[in-house]
Amino acid sequence: MTTCLFCKIVAGAIPSTPVFEDEHLMVIDDINPVAPVHKLIIPKKHIATLNDLSAEDTLLMGHLLVTGAKLAQTLGIAEDGYRLVENCNAAAGQTVYHIHMHLLGGRIFHWPPG
Ligand code: 5GP
Ligand code: ZN
Repeated sequence: MTTCLFCKIVAGAIPSTPVFEDEHLMVIDDINPVAPVHKLIIPKKHIATLNDLSAEDTLLMGHLLVTGAKLAQTLGIAEDGYRLVENCNAAAGQTVYHIHMHLLGGRIFHWPPG
């Protein structure tokens, strides 16, 4: 059995309540939200970091992005604005080494990010 947290969630070994799920990805609420809306868009395929992407992942990564944008519409944060964020490795703050896209919204965000 994998030791990867998000692989366990995707496999149902750790129970979760998906906001959305299809063949390729799962969307869950972040356990430690940093904004009123904080979802994690998680590909079902295990890819540790953005550095591990290959050309065959192009459609999958586009699907993550489009899903995040559609979900922002559904959740009513699209017009005000939102962020889709992927952290890569330690300097960027990645803590779970299975890639995921954060959908953040419902408050004002500053730039540059901290
Ligand atoms: P990262 O820091 O790798 O970009 O993001 C990992 C995110 O996963 C963090 O925002 C963290 O709160 C979230 N997280 C960590 N463990 C769990 C968990 O067991 N369940 C859920 N839903 N989120 C988690
Ligand atoms: Zn994994």
